[in-house]
Amino acid sequence: MEKRFYITTPIYYVNDKPHIGHAYTTLACDTISRYKRMKGYDVKFLTGTDEHGQKIQTAAESKGESPQKFVDRIHVAFRDLCATLGASNDDFIRTTEQRHIRVVQEIFSRLMSNDDIYKGKYSGYYCVPCETYVPENAMGENHTCPDCGRPLIIMEEESYFFRASKYVPQLIEHYEKHLRGVMPKIRYNEIMSFLKSGVRDQSVSRTSIKWGIPVPGDEKHVIYVWFDALVNYISALGGLDTDEFAKWWPNVRHMVGKDIIRFHCVTWPLVLLALGVNLPQEIFAHGWWTVDGEKMSKTRGNVVDPSEMVKEYGLDPFRYFLMREVPFGNDGDFSERALVSRINSDLANDLGNLLNRTLQMIRSYRGGIVPKSDEPSELSQMSAEILERVDRSMNDYAFDEALKAIWEFIGRANKFIDENMPWKLAKDESQSAKLDFVLMNLYEALRLSAMLIAPVMPETSRRIWTQLGISEDPVKAQYDSFKWGNCAGNVIGKSEVLFPRIDIKEWEKSKEEKKLQETSSQETTSATEAQSAPAIEHEEEITIDAFKAVEMRVAQITKCEEIPRSKKLYKLEVDLGYEKRTVCSGIKAFFTPEELTGKRVILVTNLKPAKLCGIESNGMILAASVKKDGVSEQLTLVVPESDIPLGSRVS
Ligand SMILES: [Zn+2]
Repeated sequence: MEKRFYITTPIYYVNDKPHIGHAYTTLACDTISRYKRMKGYDVKFLTGTDEHGQKIQTAAESKGESPQKFVDRIHVAFRDLCATLGASNDDFIRTTEQRHIRVVQEIFSRLMSNDDIYKGKYSGYYCVPCETYVPENAMGENHTCPDCGRPLIIMEEESYFFRASKYVPQLIEHYEKHLRGVMPKIRYNEIMSFLKSGVRDQSVSRTSIKWGIPVPGDEKHVIYVWFDALVNYISALGGLDTDEFAKWWPNVRHMVGKDIIRFHCVTWPLVLLALGVNLPQEIFAHGWWTVDGEKMSKTRGNVVDPSEMVKEYGLDPFRYFLMREVPFGNDGDFSERALVSRINSDLANDLGNLLNRTLQMIRSYRGGIVPKSDEPSELSQMSAEILERVDRSMNDYAFDEALKAIWEFIGRANKFIDENMPWKLAKDESQSAKLDFVLMNLYEALRLSAMLIAPVMPETSRRIWTQLGISEDPVKAQYDSFKWGNCAGNVIGKSEVLFPRIDIKEWEKSKEEKKLQETSSQETTSATEAQSAPAIEHEEEITIDAFKAVEMRVAQITKCEEIPRSKKLYKLEVDLGYEKRTVCSGIKAFFTPEELTGKRVILVTNLKPAKLCGIESNGMILAASVKKDGVSEQLTLVVPESDIPLGSRVS
């Protein structure tokens, strides 16, 4: 049987800019794809974009665009991300493409004609932005959405339902036999207990949404976006009755973030069971990234843009960091400092130095020609073990473990130099064979290491082989045909530094300067505000959209502290119901902490965070004031007139 491997990323919802989370999933799939190709597999790597649904429709409307025009424009960023990351995907599917729409309707019809999809009525608490009904036991305080914290509405509509409940016992039985059906173990347990708690039939259509694929034969219904999206894994193969499907589907694997495992490990397999086709071999759920220890969010302004990181630190270091820093499956923390330290220690020091030292010695002691030696060494023995460990780790999607194994090997090779002291051997004619032995083994260690890192750092791998004087492309090499010690007589190429060391002091200085520039621009704005004359001054006209862009919500002050260094500012803790924030507010002259604690106010929630007196302020409290010479003489807070849930939006 031919070795085949079909791997997919989830398709990315295009209402957002690509961030490190998207990059992570794509890179993990790219790494495993490249690895499998080097293990002789025929690989298909699919990614793409999810382009239907209410959020897209709303976003398009707010831009005054048609949804189609909007997604045509927006999805490009995700295509570009693939290129930026050097992803080796074989296809990129969009859910607005005809090839997808056709297959979604085919599959929907097939399920309808088998009575696995039926018409019913749906009613429940619904979150409009998240496009999801929220079960009562999952609701937040005051009927709010557990995911986004926004108020829920009650919605009732005619809907088609997928008979999910019918296939649950079959799915449980399947997972009991296939422990790799959901990975890692923690997610497997989560899914099993969820399945055993019972799964209700699931709504698969909406009448309230226009932007989507119509239900065949009942066009006032639009196929619900989750169903539409999941089918991409099959529509990219042309549908159920194609040769491509027969070729790839038995070997399908999905890679997802842990937030969407229910769709992928419950709903989707239930649909597949209803269709009578095999379930995915493996579904792997990876963790989330925080940034400098904090949750990544637009309000915090700490969203990491992958293309900026690539621009600043280079593609391969960025790829290496994401795959190495965190045990795959766990949550991880992204920080530029940690990235810099990995570049300096793992890449520049360990790998870069090994290459430099080895090539330099071959050049000075053997005229740049790799000597012959057949004697086995610790390195040659270790090489077999490393190949095996890397293989085992890669098969478990333990990218970090694979890299750790490779770096142990690199570390061993560096030690091998120190132990054998080739510079001493070179001075002693009688040690010539020993010197050949040492140099040849170091050369081989590098040749192997470079090949092993190719799935994670393809470009670096190529650069090393070029310097070693090997004309083949390591990215196309086959692991199983690697033989230690075939390279006597190779002429090494020109040396170049793989990864220049980053000077930490310089780096810190440039980061500090960048930060200062950002804060000073914020200070300038507040300074101009303060200087506005007492006479009525009108701002320029703005559109309703510009106004809507300001997010204001009801919040409660729960704590008020003095800031020792500041005459004007209080440090306030405010509760938005779904989230607590720290805000610095220049109202100290007008209130005591007791007066403020417990007060309900209006908070601008989507201001870029600003550092004031060393404290990060995440929002601004609205107040009205009378100013004289730029100084407030009188000030009152804007407060909600009656009781309304915290987090309610002001518009
Ligand atoms: Zn929500």
